[in-house]
Amino acid sequence: MDSVFKLEPFEDNYEVGEDLGSGHFAVVRKCIHRKTRQAFAAKFIRKRRGGGRKGAKMEDIVKEINVLRCMNHPNVISLHEVYDTKQEVILVLELVSGGELFDYISEKEALSEEEASAFIKQILEGLKHLHDNSIVHLDLKPENIMLLDRTSTKIKLIDFGLARKINDKDDVRAMMGTAEFIAPEVVSFEPLSLATDMWSVGVITYILLSGSSPFLGETLQETYHNITALNFDFDHDLFQNTSDLAKDFIKRLFIKNPRKRGSVNDCLNHPWIKPSEPREAIARRSAMINIDNFKSFMARKRWKQSMRVVSLCNRLTKSIQLRKSTDTLSSRNTLSSRNNLDEETTEEVNCGAWSPSS
Ligand code: ATP
Repeated sequence: MDSVFKLEPFEDNYEVGEDLGSGHFAVVRKCIHRKTRQAFAAKFIRKRRGGGRKGAKMEDIVKEINVLRCMNHPNVISLHEVYDTKQEVILVLELVSGGELFDYISEKEALSEEEASAFIKQILEGLKHLHDNSIVHLDLKPENIMLLDRTSTKIKLIDFGLARKINDKDDVRAMMGTAEFIAPEVVSFEPLSLATDMWSVGVITYILLSGSSPFLGETLQETYHNITALNFDFDHDLFQNTSDLAKDFIKRLFIKNPRKRGSVNDCLNHPWIKPSEPREAIARRSAMINIDNFKSFMARKRWKQSMRVVSLCNRLTKSIQLRKSTDTLSSRNTLSSRNNLDEETTEEVNCGAWSPSS
């Protein structure tokens, strides 16, 4: 990138195409560079204005950009350009078109631990690049692990909205992330470190092998309690086809003390990822992930997501009806009600994640 923020109109240089996804304050759309015809993903991040709650704070957007600018690894999304407009900052990112890893796996009939560990290895390699640069991701979860395309099965880590540089002397504490995946030090508001990401790798691996979320409770409070009390087990019904090697890999990550938790290098050298004897390679090849339960887990997840959308639509409809009956239909009022509805949309769809500002 020559100069970080480009000020010319984005659409002078890019054609904007279909929606690829959305998050708290961002919409991601496919775009094509007019001159080169190269495809990218443009992340339109709405800027927060004044003291309101709509939009991302400029300092957080800059943090995400600075992290992405340090990234240069095949398993991590790369940043091409940044545009600054009055309302939004637009990040032009490498396009990933293979969808989420977990969606891809849920379409398979079977998956051996050897194949599963190859995916986890790629996640670890991407994460090693971050950690070698003292960057902690802080939002590792299945939604942020995508495939470059449907043919190569190459993993890309995305969404650096919560990522930050960590120095030994800084005492970073924050309540952020998605409940099921966060480490005990996040729940108890203790200092965060690179080890915080490693806990999430343990949760992702546990779900991948069993189709069950290790700490998820009926309520948020129960989930936090399960995390801080290390309340998990390898239920025989769910893990009967799992190798001891894989369980050992997870156990080294579910350690409360972040200093004692396996680091990214420890994990890359663990025999489940890098077998050192034929016996370990055979154990991994003959063990299978619990694909039936994994498919049910993904079906439940999609159902929950669609229920959230239905409930959101109901709220929007009620809100529109209420406004119609009370507002005079001046164009100004119509515009302001649209803005309010936008905010409800982004908050509701992301109700699994939170930050101190929300
Ligand atoms: P959140 O509020 O959940 O933290 P966010 O606002 O930071 O999200 P992202 O997670 O970066 O936004 O992107 C939202 C969605 O857009 C992703 O879940 C994914 O589906 C899609 N997406 C993001 N980046 C890309 C990309 N480079 N290529 C294709 N799709 C992408």
